[in-house]
Amino acid sequence: MKDIAGLLIGGKLVRGSAELEVVNPATGEVFTTVSRATEHEANAAVAAAKAAQPAWAALGLEARRALLLRFADGLEANAEDLAATLVLEQGKPLAEARQELAFAQAFVRHIAGLSLPVSVVQDDATHRIEVHHRPLGVVAAIAAWNFPVLIAAYKIAPALLMGNTVVLKPAPTTPVASLQLGAMAADIFPPGVLNVITDRNDLGSLLTSHPDVAKVSFTGSTATGKKVMESAGPRLKRITLELGGNDGAIVLDDADVAEVAPRIFGSAFYNCGQVCLALKRLYVHASQYDRMCEALAELASQAVVGNGADAGVTIGPLQNAMQFDKAGRFLAAARRDGRILAGGAPLKGGGYFVAPTIVRDLPDHNALVAEEQFAPILPVLKYEQIDEAVARVNASPYGLGGSVWSASEDRASEVARRLDVGTAWVNHHLHFGPHIPLVGAKESGIGVEFGTEGLAEFAQLSVLNIAHRQVG
Ligand code: NAD
Repeated sequence: MKDIAGLLIGGKLVRGSAELEVVNPATGEVFTTVSRATEHEANAAVAAAKAAQPAWAALGLEARRALLLRFADGLEANAEDLAATLVLEQGKPLAEARQELAFAQAFVRHIAGLSLPVSVVQDDATHRIEVHHRPLGVVAAIAAWNFPVLIAAYKIAPALLMGNTVVLKPAPTTPVASLQLGAMAADIFPPGVLNVITDRNDLGSLLTSHPDVAKVSFTGSTATGKKVMESAGPRLKRITLELGGNDGAIVLDDADVAEVAPRIFGSAFYNCGQVCLALKRLYVHASQYDRMCEALAELASQAVVGNGADAGVTIGPLQNAMQFDKAGRFLAAARRDGRILAGGAPLKGGGYFVAPTIVRDLPDHNALVAEEQFAPILPVLKYEQIDEAVARVNASPYGLGGSVWSASEDRASEVARRLDVGTAWVNHHLHFGPHIPLVGAKESGIGVEFGTEGLAEFAQLSVLNIAHRQVG
């Protein structure tokens, strides 16, 4: 692997005008320093992407597909290095970091195999009318810190496949793996096709308002997503916003608690609860409530919390100091209004560790229920009637995902269809894939990622409408 300190601009690894210290969340200490871009490098990256785009589009779909498959091979070949970086900068356990790499590779391979063929909507004596997908131009790919490699990969692949070029900007607390991806890509794609810059949360709006950026593919919080929409508005840029969620799950009265509790726990605490699609509020029928609370508290107390690099660790630290402080506020609110059955406090000894926490008897207006916690803290809430549970799940301004758990798939599916969300799962949660469209309802997003629907968002639909000459 090449020097990781460099930004990737126009095919070259360049030292930025500034530097960025990167903290290991398991220790709270700086573990490396990388290049940071200023406006100068951000503009240079957009200019390089703009200059490279026509030739990249002209290369043709099959050639672009082949290079994306080489990119997937690179992810595979460098998986151990990249996973080690993820553990250091993101904090996740090594097994989860390896899983992220496996996902990233699978996503790129799947997306590289897609295409949006020309469709003919009329072909008769008077007209031939074809629908094409053209590239948009330069795509700004702005990522969150919870899955740095996966998010980058699933934005880069469809954007490049459709003939666009990309400027990737990771979150400031997880820049290293993205710079490694850039170093890897420098040997694969023509100069300027993929550019990678880092910032200190100060270059996002430059990208989203830049006249030469045609599309913004953004993954992050709803608050920032609204800023992106505003900033992209004056030029009517294309945007895809994958934003926050506060997924509610409903356990019906016939569910087998012992069977579903471990899967519910896994869906809530994966990546230390820092997943947009994590299960974040659990509504349990009164008849099962006490048993479910006990089962989840037992699982929380068995979890092994620690440095993701250590063998056997199942839950790492929160990713950054801001998230850690936020978790502290949720814990205080939970202690005030509810009963803590497991965890309930940050762990001492450095690093951003919070003990996996189960809270019962909270009112829905408590911050831990009403807001997105993005932390290993799960509120378990009691309901009596299904209509009431559905109404409480749907009361959120978010609408990313939701789930229903039951011994009967039919019963659960009937309830799941009533959830006002982009994805409703039955008897699982947090399952996604490159062939499954990912959408957010309400304030969880705009647009689609994954599947051919997601690919189409990286293209301009255009119609070729030919009138046949009437001879004779
Ligand atoms: P964030 O909104 O703080 O940051 C996301 C990215 O936006 C970062 O790269 C950041 O530097 C950049 N940014 C900051 N200000 C900007 C601006 N004004 N204009 C443009 N970009 C700007 O989010 P985060 O804290 O990094 O990530 C956590 C959030 O992301 C959670 O809400 C989570 O649910 C959400 N998320 C959603 C999905 C999804 O697919 N729906 C996936 C992962 C994470």
